[in-house]
Amino acid sequence: MAKYVFITGGVVSSLGKGIAAASLGLILKSKGYQVENRKFDPYLNIDPGTMNPYQHGEVFVTDDGAETDLDIGHYERFTGTNLSQSSNTTAGRVYREVFEKERKGEFHGGTVQVIPNITGQIREHMLAKSALPDGITPDVIITEVGGTVGDIESLPFIEAARQIKYDVGPENCCYIHLTLLPYLKKIGELKTKPTQHSVKELQGQGIQPDIVMLRSEIPIDDATREKLALYCNVPASAIIQNLNARSIYEVPLMMEDAGLGQAVCAALSLEDRPSQLGEWRNIVERLYHPKRRVAIALVGKYIDLRDAYLSVVESLLHAGVFHQAEVVIDWVDAEKLTGPAAAKNRLKNADGVIVPGGFGDRGIEGMILAARYARENGVPYFGICLGMQIMSIEFARNVLGLKGAHSTEMNPATPFPVIALLPGKNTTDIGGTLRLGKYECVLTEGTLARKAYGRGGVWERHRHRYEFNNAFLDGFEGRGMEISGVNPRQKLVEIIEAKNHPWMLGCQFHPEFKSRPDRPHPLFRDFVGAAVKNQEAG
Ligand code: GLN
Repeated sequence: MAKYVFITGGVVSSLGKGIAAASLGLILKSKGYQVENRKFDPYLNIDPGTMNPYQHGEVFVTDDGAETDLDIGHYERFTGTNLSQSSNTTAGRVYREVFEKERKGEFHGGTVQVIPNITGQIREHMLAKSALPDGITPDVIITEVGGTVGDIESLPFIEAARQIKYDVGPENCCYIHLTLLPYLKKIGELKTKPTQHSVKELQGQGIQPDIVMLRSEIPIDDATREKLALYCNVPASAIIQNLNARSIYEVPLMMEDAGLGQAVCAALSLEDRPSQLGEWRNIVERLYHPKRRVAIALVGKYIDLRDAYLSVVESLLHAGVFHQAEVVIDWVDAEKLTGPAAAKNRLKNADGVIVPGGFGDRGIEGMILAARYARENGVPYFGICLGMQIMSIEFARNVLGLKGAHSTEMNPATPFPVIALLPGKNTTDIGGTLRLGKYECVLTEGTLARKAYGRGGVWERHRHRYEFNNAFLDGFEGRGMEISGVNPRQKLVEIIEAKNHPWMLGCQFHPEFKSRPDRPHPLFRDFVGAAVKNQEAG
């Protein structure tokens, strides 16, 4: 039977609960335990798929096509495990399930209430059998509860987490509460009061934390630790500092040094085996000691919120670690690229250009100018999903001379719909109707893609509605654009690349969801490699 760790947050949001949960996953895994990370989000959307990136940041997609919270991405990157729909449950999903049961008469005439029905449904998800790949059964299930203790919305989730202790027994259940320990510079003191209040609030909801984890600017001194232990009702060894780190990838190392693994093993009556974090330490070392810098222009429309492109940013970083290069991202607002001269001026210092995914027509013409600049000047270009569609539109307009070529997403009346909907596609419902999750892609011999992957076929994750229109295939291939990856079942174009160019490639899928710090995605790796070469060539 699995043991359970619940991570709640207090005082303020954005303390890095997701990174803490991911770090704990890595630490326990490095001690030889199988782990599964899960997240519960208290909002009423069924999933984050319908939310604007400005609301929510990136939507992370799993192999099975679930549109999930971006923390699921952190879990996958830290623990190396592929997760699924069951890894992320929202209040909306829970309510929908309860309503469906009610309509079917499953409550046998009873009144349906938040307690016990909503909490009961949450509990079912918390206790649900694991869906880890390869039939792996987790020793520890780490569950992050979204939101902050004291929010009305998170109450049912906290209540469900409280009950789990009685389902599985106290030795199989551990509660971690993450709070903020503000440092008042003027008086040189760490202030414990917000934490005391937050822990009281949690206790008021029936949960006594086993471990209190504190975000702090400076190391926690012994006196403060004793004070916190006393007021939070835990031993001093269960007060774990969580110091600010230069990179999120250093957090697990710092947390392990701070005694997190030991404290969790003690709370769960698990043997505290030595952690094997050597390889991870090497990655952080390489990250902190780059031999060169490479500038990548990221041309998009959500650039004010970096979290909107989180996995792309992480993937560039992983590729940089591989090449021992610090990837410096230049955030380019596509709307500001108003003409060829503006594009050239803005992009001239870039060693590579990346156009990531996106929806809607804002900034599209600027992205097309960026693709044109990269193609005409031999600058490495990587187009992801929308970025691949942009690359196709640019090529159709400026090489094939198809004036007004476009995607029917932006211009339904275009005379040359190089990107279009597949016939029969549902466009009335917005939620969950995209082409989602993993699909096969067969690679063409002798292409950049084939070379990057080093094998003939791959599976990649998708999240899009529009496709390359095969009616234009011949025109593209005859004029220097090669189709290097195709979906073998539906004959859909998955990867295109420019033949007479150092490295210009677009993929319809999202490779960023599969890149890991220790295993950079082959396409990101080779794109950054090409940017390094471009820089060396001056
Ligand atoms: N908007 C495009 C589509 O739906 C691209 C989506 C994306 O980049 N994720 O096909």
